[in-house]
Amino acid sequence: MNATIRITKIVAPKIQYKTAPLEESTLSIYHNETLVSEAYRKYRLSNGVACKKCGSKDHYWLSTKEQFQCKKCKFRTTLRSGSIMENSKLPIHYLFIACHLLLKTGNRLTAEQLQHFTGHKYFEPLWSLLRKIKDEMPLAQQYHLLLHFIEEKQNEALASVLASAPSEAQ
Ligand SMILES: [Zn+2]
Repeated sequence: MNATIRITKIVAPKIQYKTAPLEESTLSIYHNETLVSEAYRKYRLSNGVACKKCGSKDHYWLSTKEQFQCKKCKFRTTLRSGSIMENSKLPIHYLFIACHLLLKTGNRLTAEQLQHFTGHKYFEPLWSLLRKIKDEMPLAQQYHLLLHFIEEKQNEALASVLASAPSEAQ
């Protein structure tokens, strides 16, 4: 009995960077920290911000303090606290860029690529952010996050159209 066992090596498909380049210009739409923060705030509210004091998930945004406030006990939570961006000093728009690229590469984005596309000086915080997204944010959540941004972006476009529209009264 000389049965040969064939071991097929499974090779992970390489990202076809040169044939299908990720567009850097597309990513510039996220370079608006105000707009991105607005989208992140809505994304967090839609997921239910959890109160660290009483556990309630009922919050509203307190614009004067720029924090979420618990409807039950009034305890406040910052935009980053209790989320994937907690303890991170990176701009929030990096999260959006990362999710955009993750969706585009089918979750195969590397920290080196993220560094290239953000132009951030330090590798370690990007590696750590990417690790967290891959661990804690399923693709559906990443998609959900970007949808909130698109909504904000459209609102901004709409606002600029309305602002430039001639008044009917004149
Ligand atoms: Zn509370």
